[in-house]
Amino acid sequence: MDNTLIIYNTLTRRKERFEPLHAPHVGMYVCGPTVYGDAHLGHARPAITFDLLFRYLKHLGYKVRYVRNITDVGHLEHDADDGEDKIAKKARLEQLEPMEVAQYYINRYHKAMEELNVLPPSIEPHASGHIIEQIELVKEILDNGYAYESKGSVYFDVAKYNKDHHYGKLSGRNLDDVLNTTRELDGQDEKHNPADFALWKCAQPEHIMRWPSPWSNGFPGWHCECTAMGRKYLGNHFDIHGGGMDLVFPHHECEIAQSVASQGDDMVKYWMHNNMITINGTKMGKSLGNFITLDEFFNGTHKLLAQAYTPMTIRFFILQAHYRSTVDFSNEALQAAEKGLQRLTEALANIEKITPADKTTVEVADLRSKCYDAMNDDLNSPIVISNLFDAAKAINNIVAGNATITAEDLAELKDTMRTFMFDILGLKENVQSGNEGNNKAYAGAIDLLLELRKQAKANKDWATADKIRNDLTALGFQIKDTKDGVEWKL
Ligand code: ZN
Repeated sequence: MDNTLIIYNTLTRRKERFEPLHAPHVGMYVCGPTVYGDAHLGHARPAITFDLLFRYLKHLGYKVRYVRNITDVGHLEHDADDGEDKIAKKARLEQLEPMEVAQYYINRYHKAMEELNVLPPSIEPHASGHIIEQIELVKEILDNGYAYESKGSVYFDVAKYNKDHHYGKLSGRNLDDVLNTTRELDGQDEKHNPADFALWKCAQPEHIMRWPSPWSNGFPGWHCECTAMGRKYLGNHFDIHGGGMDLVFPHHECEIAQSVASQGDDMVKYWMHNNMITINGTKMGKSLGNFITLDEFFNGTHKLLAQAYTPMTIRFFILQAHYRSTVDFSNEALQAAEKGLQRLTEALANIEKITPADKTTVEVADLRSKCYDAMNDDLNSPIVISNLFDAAKAINNIVAGNATITAEDLAELKDTMRTFMFDILGLKENVQSGNEGNNKAYAGAIDLLLELRKQAKANKDWATADKIRNDLTALGFQIKDTKDGVEWKL
């Protein structure tokens, strides 16, 4: 097994050698979506980042248990005006069960992830299905003296915790910074300190999603679910916890505090965070009118989009940036990604046309090790891609007759490209529609027409041969006669 993977740990702020607690097993938890609306570009980045990690760890031979939760209690997304839970509000307005609303968006999220070729996690636990575990967690924190009850709600005692431990170690803050940036939100009159966060909330009368607890009929604080479910499925200590950078504070900071306050130590060895996506240089937001759902990308219906983009273009676009760098969306950037991906797929198809020679005159020997080096350096996918572009250039040179390659080097080149493009970067083999069966049938039909054209030419039936060629050209195909036969592309 390759043991040289280096990853950046947000907690220690440095790159560390990845050494799993129980190799070859790896436990990995990633904060999943809150399901109160359609998946958008912001959902695609963490999903693809941790899919890359999941795929690579498996490729290296690790047995990975990947847990990605569904936040279906909805608490975080209160409406600014009335503070009502978004799932509950939608359910009330449309006379649906809250779980019906959640399930609708979960199904749509899964479909978008499948189109992006994001592998499903090993376990996908729902917050609403783990209320008992969350109540247990709250009890432990209360028993250890790091929480208090107030009017049916339970709050984490941040000041008390901070006396014994450092609250803010993940986000690099101290308690004063936290106090200075805490906004006045609901429940302030119940808290001892504005920095305290809810472990359990007593439900207001209009709150539909509620469960009985020793303190009140209510619902768990948002941070509880990941601590409770991470521990349930990955144990008291596990390897990787990931999510978007926007979750570092307060969500992951609070998770660390809950872990230490309940079990006495940290649950997580490596914290990993992907950076955010901006749209034309600004943050994405519903109120800013630049909030583009994945479906809108796939069918090109949002007013900011110049065209539709395939799921693989979106995936490739995201992988072209390192996961810790920001990515700025623009039509120009996505069109460049579309062209880049096309260049790689064409080069891969061109490999089939190469006749091996007895000498290799292109630099392809160390492609595989260069790609592994890049992946091992904190998942540097843009460097992997730039190495694949170099390989594509070499292939085109060979096809053009300007260079040669031996059969052995050719097989190695092809295998390396396929391994990194499909297994590790997770690109789909056929990017046109993502439906391999359809694409195969479609390519077969074009080949059949060209075969008929060849026969027509052999029979000196020039009218038919020209008609096939001209009509295909009118439909957007480029037909090129070569010494080995006919080439076509759309
Ligand atoms: Zn979480």
